[in-house]
Amino acid sequence: MSGIKQVNCPTCQKIVPWTEEEIYRPFCSKKCQLIDFGEWAAERYTIPEEEGEAPDDPKDREGPDLH
Ligand SMILES: [Zn+2]
Repeated sequence: MSGIKQVNCPTCQKIVPWTEEEIYRPFCSKKCQLIDFGEWAAERYTIPEEEGEAPDDPKDREGPDLH
């Protein structure tokens, strides 16, 4: 009957107890944290900024709202 909350690691879905010891929560490990961070960083990186030669279709700019 511990009232410990548990969450699923966003990266690997492993159950992580929400305790002070789990410093990477909600991730189960630093590795998973880095993987998740790397993914969103990579997504941002693929967004063309001020280059006129972006390979993506310009009319896609208002596309799926990811925020
Ligand atoms: Zn994990």
